[in-house]
Amino acid sequence: MSKHALIELKNVQKKWDMGGNATIPVLTNINLTIRAGEFLAILGPSGSGKSTLLRIIAGLTPVSSGEIIYLGKEYHGVNPGAAMVFQSFALFPWLTVLENVTLGLESKPIADDEKKEKALHIIDVIGLDGFENAYPKELSGGMQQRVGLGRALVSDPDVLLMDEPFSALDVLTAENLRRDLLKLWRDKKIPTKTIIMVTHGIEEAVYMADRIIVVSGNPARINYDMQVTLPHCRDKKDPLFTNFVDKLYSLMMKKEHIETHRVITVKNREIAMIPQVSAGALTGFLEFLKDLNKKTDLYKLADRFMMDSEDFFPIVEGTTLLKFTKVTDGDIELTPEGILFAQASVLERKKLFRSQLIQHVPFINKIIAILQSKSNKRMSIEFFEDILTNSFSPTEVQKHMNILITWGRYAELFAYDEKSKQLYLEDTTNS
Ligand code: ADP
Ligand code: MG
Repeated sequence: MSKHALIELKNVQKKWDMGGNATIPVLTNINLTIRAGEFLAILGPSGSGKSTLLRIIAGLTPVSSGEIIYLGKEYHGVNPGAAMVFQSFALFPWLTVLENVTLGLESKPIADDEKKEKALHIIDVIGLDGFENAYPKELSGGMQQRVGLGRALVSDPDVLLMDEPFSALDVLTAENLRRDLLKLWRDKKIPTKTIIMVTHGIEEAVYMADRIIVVSGNPARINYDMQVTLPHCRDKKDPLFTNFVDKLYSLMMKKEHIETHRVITVKNREIAMIPQVSAGALTGFLEFLKDLNKKTDLYKLADRFMMDSEDFFPIVEGTTLLKFTKVTDGDIELTPEGILFAQASVLERKKLFRSQLIQHVPFINKIIAILQSKSNKRMSIEFFEDILTNSFSPTEVQKHMNILITWGRYAELFAYDEKSKQLYLEDTTNS
């Protein structure tokens, strides 16, 4: 065991079994030592495998190979020292606050009286004193998540695992809860030794964590591991703080993150996972960049749009994939095509969009070629979904087809008939 290691992951790999012989690798070569006293944030693009990694640490998802070790011992089932907080709160609506919190002790061999005592204590600690007998629906979102925290903390876990715990809350509520939790942890009001938080918010990670790992690539690995060497309580306006934020934006926007976005090969042609963003959002973003008229820091832009990186990155990735923008070292600028697009009329835009799509999204060409080869110029969506099924999960296939259809429609390359569930070429297009 490494010195002071609480949890160790050694050569962890995870593949999803898709039935038959098909598997999708999501995580590879994960080597991670987590020490007592650390607040670790796991950051990464959407779908990169952050939640999977957290569930592996919790012992809720088995690894495909490699070892997970807690206090020097390999474990295969649920990690006995860990408790989890979910984004969706996951409370039972028919149970009171006290009952929901007590559930965190369900599997512990202690008397009911003691369970109640512990639950009441933690309810007090998390600021829900007086609400013991309330039901979740009587509470605000912030208070409901306090119950979620209470249920996790009541068992005095060594390791508190949180999967985007603040992302369902409004800005101010989230801010309060982050501050309160940090205070409990820093003042040692809770015996938790280590907190591991999955987040898509770069600022949130820099505000809370002592150490941030960036998980990305296909399959994902730990691409960066950095210490946040700022004292608490951190000030988001402090230039040292924004430096960290800027640095992380640069890291996450590096070519390898964007372009190693899930890619599969079909007959030697690559199919990249296409960012989930509408043509309208892309258009608005390009116009905005045109007005700015200069290279700009991505983190400043996200701030101006008041967007989370999770919502913001797909827009950036979409415009980069289509070569309307170029990202270098955390700065974004329009390419000559991007400038043309931003200045063009509605019709010219469609044309430009079409030409970039054809050049840079090979799967679009495949769709068109298949439709053209059919005498009725039609093909069921299932046919295309099947091509994607071997390499993407069912929800991803859906998302992927939706966005391809949205983009294809906007570019007037093909259309989709909801009724017959067929893609088809219109007479007027592609002549
Ligand atoms: P993140 O939390 O970073 O958004 P996840 O860990 O939830 O990512 O998912 C990583 C990838 O694994 C995604 O492509 C997702 O669709 C896929 N995935 C997640 N859970 C399963 C599952 N049970 N079976 C198959 N694929 C899954
Ligand atoms: Mg997740």
